[in-house]
Amino acid sequence: MKKKTQKKKTRKYIFVVGGVMSGVGKGITASSIGKILQFAGYEVSAVKIDPYVNVDAGTMNPTEHGETFVLEDGYETDQDMGNYERFLNRSLTRDSYMTTGSIYQTVINRERSLGYGGKTVSVVPHVPLAVIDQIQRSADKEDAEITVVEIGGTVGEYENILFLEAARMMKRQSPQDVAFVLVSYLPVPGTLGEMKTKPTQQAVRTLQESGIFPDIIVGRSPGIMDDRRRGKIATSSMLHDEDIISAPNLSSIYDLPEHFVSENLDQKLLRKLSLKSRSNQKGIKNRQAWNRFVNKTKKSQGEVSIAIVGKYFGTGDFVLSDAYVSVIEALKFSGAELGVSVKIDWLQAQDFEGTEKKKNLKRLHNYGGVIVPGGFGSSGIDGKLAVIEYVRMNKIPFLGICLGMQMASVEFARNVLKLKGAHTTEVNPDTDHPVIDILSEQKEKLKQGDYGGSMRLGSYTANLKPGSLARKVYKKAAISERHRHRYELNTIGNEYQKMFEEKGFHVSGTSPDGVLTEIVELDQKLHPFFVGVQFHPELQARPLDPHPLFTGLIKAAKNKK
Ligand code: GLN
Repeated sequence: MKKKTQKKKTRKYIFVVGGVMSGVGKGITASSIGKILQFAGYEVSAVKIDPYVNVDAGTMNPTEHGETFVLEDGYETDQDMGNYERFLNRSLTRDSYMTTGSIYQTVINRERSLGYGGKTVSVVPHVPLAVIDQIQRSADKEDAEITVVEIGGTVGEYENILFLEAARMMKRQSPQDVAFVLVSYLPVPGTLGEMKTKPTQQAVRTLQESGIFPDIIVGRSPGIMDDRRRGKIATSSMLHDEDIISAPNLSSIYDLPEHFVSENLDQKLLRKLSLKSRSNQKGIKNRQAWNRFVNKTKKSQGEVSIAIVGKYFGTGDFVLSDAYVSVIEALKFSGAELGVSVKIDWLQAQDFEGTEKKKNLKRLHNYGGVIVPGGFGSSGIDGKLAVIEYVRMNKIPFLGICLGMQMASVEFARNVLKLKGAHTTEVNPDTDHPVIDILSEQKEKLKQGDYGGSMRLGSYTANLKPGSLARKVYKKAAISERHRHRYELNTIGNEYQKMFEEKGFHVSGTSPDGVLTEIVELDQKLHPFFVGVQFHPELQARPLDPHPLFTGLIKAAKNKK
């Protein structure tokens, strides 16, 4: 027998950390860095570290934290994971995401099972070692040559110090395999009108205090950075001028990779990691495909407007769009594919409940299509039901996602089937007609107060009925989509099933065993495009692989008279 001589692959790591303040696009910067290294011919993956104590992002309010992005394996993560999947065009797993909570849980579980062999378990080094363990496991699992690791928060915060320590330890272990990128903010105070570098210089110092010396500094600012500021930052950080990269605001986040290439950031990073650009077919094709997408977004002819009826208001539009970021991006990708730009309007569900209801409903005619996205709890439910009734009756293209699909079913039950008080038991546990009811597996979990990571989560397959709109749109018989719910349509096998069917409300996608409803739709004779899905199609929409349901909605919106 031949002896295995394969030696362990060298894996490289780029840590991306933030300076001055958060919210300046560190995630997009890290994603773009990954992208340009793909262009250079490398296999690239990503890890996101969030410093909060929540074990995952599933228990956080989206108005506070933005959307919860669910991975194929069901892990509930930060929205930045969506950016990584969209930019790198690959699905990631739970090993690619961690929080302070999840890392401590790992360490504590290991201690409880005598995994430390009787040693005293200390914050340092055991916690950073667990971080390193997971980063390396993720790289191995993805078989990544380069892994971009984004550490959330900004340097100098108490919260992320253990993650920085992990990064420092990895650098010490193999200096040629680890590089650091500091993404910092360069304010231009209105009173001065001048770009200031001092906060960035201070961020560099703070980073150095934790034993980390940046290899590259990316300066985020509204406009381009001039040579003078470049020089200032370089001097104070012991870097060459060319290692200071300007990242001004661009018209689209998807322009950032090419901007970075124009700054030679790919070559610079490869050099820091003792790698060479390969300019192989894989990289070239990757870049061409990306640029084809970017060009399409710029060459759109015409516009369709889509209304998203949500309830996450109160803290301003910014937060709302953060809560639905994947839906927004999914619409953009499908728009680009069809050559139209998509204008999104946020409509507050509660506006369809009060005295202005009638007037506001009429305004729905201004839109090519309407989306009622996912959600939880009872607020805004009546407004959503009113909107769905209106778009159903007026043949306005409609896509209901998760809660939106459930409300479409409730609306139909009430107004067409005349099932008085029909509801989801999430909102009214005592309804006479629980057309949406809790999944049987979920009952026990809720009784025990088990809320974390306990929904029906992640990818499941569904079969599509021949002849259905869903089947036409997807152009295939079986699909796999990501889920995040506790409730479901409760019609299969009971007296409601026939009632819905007879009136033209079809179940067109089910779990392979036929037990769970995955897609509902109105008969194509009744409505041009009325689809509700129990899953979250937006989570799988990619720039290079737009999602058929969003494409279907926009197509229908384009054709609407
Ligand atoms: N609240 C509903 C459920 O748990 C819908 C969830 C969602 O929209 N993600 O089933």
